[in-house]
Amino acid sequence: MSTESEGDWVPPGVDTKRANVARVYDYWLGGTHNFLADQDVGRAIVAIEPLMRELAKANRAFLGRAVRFLAGQGIEQFLDLGSGIPTSGNVHEIAQLANPAARVVYADIDPVAIAHSKAILATSDLAAIIDADVRDPGKILANDVVGKLIDFTRPVGLILMVVLHFVSDAEDPWHLVGTLRDALPSGSYLVIGHAVSEGAKPAVAQAAETAYNRSVATQLHLRSSADVKRLFDGFDLVEPGLVYASRWRPDPDEELVAELADYGTLVGVGRKP
Ligand code: SAM
Repeated sequence: MSTESEGDWVPPGVDTKRANVARVYDYWLGGTHNFLADQDVGRAIVAIEPLMRELAKANRAFLGRAVRFLAGQGIEQFLDLGSGIPTSGNVHEIAQLANPAARVVYADIDPVAIAHSKAILATSDLAAIIDADVRDPGKILANDVVGKLIDFTRPVGLILMVVLHFVSDAEDPWHLVGTLRDALPSGSYLVIGHAVSEGAKPAVAQAAETAYNRSVATQLHLRSSADVKRLFDGFDLVEPGLVYASRWRPDPDEELVAELADYGTLVGVGRKP
């Protein structure tokens, strides 16, 4: 685990004294690209929700299953927005296991996520990261790298995994998803994971949101299941619909951890008809 002494992987200008969304998540996932400020916030949330690390890992496991599902449906190009700091089971690794020719464009606004993604993708012609804000979908669609790797006349796998809860109502996540949806051809898929204010432990969710927003500049906006469902407007949700992460098509050998099954992150996969 990193400490305040910065490794040579820290891009210039990064404020390591201030907790940051991407690095706190990296901490929960057991990654090494985080600092004391991130670890402090991560631990504060774990004090409120002792299963926070397991919930984050359940999100990543869902992402892996969803990418494998999409690859099985013939999706060979992916746009992963708010992709985060690379960790185990990155989208291009999973997609390219299924299809070595699969192409992936990642996008994030975090300099550490971007720098580390660039480093691991430096020798790849099939995957790249762009510095882009999900709140400006028009700019993402017009990006040269996106234009080079993604053919919008063929189905695309659009991934917005645990990122839209960092977009406020005023910034209208429903509209931004609609803009992206309208650029996708029929047969494309949308993968979303979104932390919610409902489920088995609403008071814990609210306490975690309050603690997080006190310390991290990018604010977390937990939403209701109805609001998350509206993000899929124009898509048909595939079975089992909108469910908590560990309930979405668990692998047969995967043990369903009962405590994680009824709160946390609602996930879904939709197909554009
Ligand atoms: N999607 C990855 C995953 O599921 O493992 C990372 C999730 S992490 C919780 C959220 C990521 O979204 C962070 O890397 C953060 O920098 C990024 N993010 C937050 N707001 C963003 C925005 N407006 N545009 C692009 N990325 C954003």
